[in-house]
Amino acid sequence: MQQNLVNAAYLVASVLFILGLKGLTSPRTALRGNLLGATGMLIAVTATLLVRQIVSFELILVGIAIGSVVGVAAALKVPLTTMPELVALFNGFGGGASALVAAAAVLSPAMIGDVARIQMYTAGAASAIIGAATLTGSVIAWAKLQGMLSMQPRGGVLHTINFVCIAGALGLGIYYALDPGALWAFWTLISVAALYGVLFTVPVGGADMPVVIALLNSASGLAAASTGFVLSNNVLIISGSLVGASGFILTEIMCRAMNRSLWDVLSGNLGDAIGSSDDDVYQGRVKSASADEAALVLEAARSVTIVPGYGMAVAQAQHAVRDLSRRLQKNGARIRYGIHPVAGRMPGHMNVLLAEADVPYDELFDMDQINPTFAQTDVVIVLGANDVVNPAARDDANSPIAGMPILDVDKARTVMVVKRSLSPGFAGIPNRLFAADNTLMLFGDGEKVVRDLLAALDE
Ligand code: NDP
Repeated sequence: MQQNLVNAAYLVASVLFILGLKGLTSPRTALRGNLLGATGMLIAVTATLLVRQIVSFELILVGIAIGSVVGVAAALKVPLTTMPELVALFNGFGGGASALVAAAAVLSPAMIGDVARIQMYTAGAASAIIGAATLTGSVIAWAKLQGMLSMQPRGGVLHTINFVCIAGALGLGIYYALDPGALWAFWTLISVAALYGVLFTVPVGGADMPVVIALLNSASGLAAASTGFVLSNNVLIISGSLVGASGFILTEIMCRAMNRSLWDVLSGNLGDAIGSSDDDVYQGRVKSASADEAALVLEAARSVTIVPGYGMAVAQAQHAVRDLSRRLQKNGARIRYGIHPVAGRMPGHMNVLLAEADVPYDELFDMDQINPTFAQTDVVIVLGANDVVNPAARDDANSPIAGMPILDVDKARTVMVVKRSLSPGFAGIPNRLFAADNTLMLFGDGEKVVRDLLAALDE
């Protein structure tokens, strides 16, 4: 009877997770989706605690208290611009927790109820492999995003070692599932998987980081689902599979955005090319303009496309840019926003900021929709974007970002680039766009430059 109630609660929680995910697919319904998912998690956790009194409630309460303090403090303190670091760490902790629970279960099988041996040990090996690789990979990703490790891509022999690690961990996993007494195999597979997590993330260059973070997110879900099979816990299987599947879809989207295959990602084969130097690209070719000069060009423009990037988030220029759009619309110009899928530092970053500033959704266009329009556009304002508009991705086979689809802003009649200096973006490479004949650089903080443009237009 009690088990039936728990299963009913798990079913309700699972439906709420699915409705929550559905809500997260649009900025309009995202908040509600988040609440539905959180309610589902509360129901699932409560149902589990009410039945499985296998650990003392005191310990669980202490855990919840510590987790809540750390979680709330992190969520309040972390600015949107450093969200990927937080997400990377969360993925890592999720993977690590799944591996630890699976390890505790397979090492003390007497504590677990009726679970078939082969199911428990196969799932235990899977959870340990995926969880350990997710933990170490996420820590390296976090260190790279924090700037503690170099973002330059490197590869070569690492691809081969990665392949050996994947094959070795899988082989050890099968051996351990067939002979659970061989604890050496269990500990060795955890070590090999942890090594793979490090080696797979270390060679990844700057611009490819979103693909890796999405993949680690998916892996943390798969690790949780495997642990669900170890414990025979339905809600863990369902929620882990949902995270795994949605993370996988995101990885697919990111792979397409970066023009990488999934195999390239898994084997760490994410481009080791060396690009051109700053001097090759910029020397004597960069033209800068004042706000007054730029306002004269904008005054005459009939079509203006704004391409936001990470710098808009740093400058918090979304409100100013909305005011500029309205001012230009009053002047008779058609305004569009071109959104690259990896602009900013997290999926949907630009959409979130622009929604916060009440920019209408129908002014936002994704890469496939906006690219054909650039050739007929009078002015493109590139606001704090860099890698996502770098023509080297399209034209230079030796560039580290070669093959990554970009917004073809260089095809517009005039391009205005708003940024503080000629510093590179996340990928760490120079950008030929800044030295193009039709480009004007408006140097300065994004918010200030846009406000100066507004003032110049009003004059
Ligand atoms: P980039 O990181 O390529 O460039 C951002 C630019 O913003 C910099 O060149 C910087 O130049 C400028 N900037 C910074 N602060 C300001 C400011 N206050 N005012 C004006 N400009 C400013 O950004 P993109 O959005 O073009 O590209 C995103 C990159 O991040 C891609 O390489 C992507 O792969 C990577 N990435 C994306 C993730 C995602 O999920 N979206 C996750 C992790 C990485 P300057 O210092 O001269 O001002």
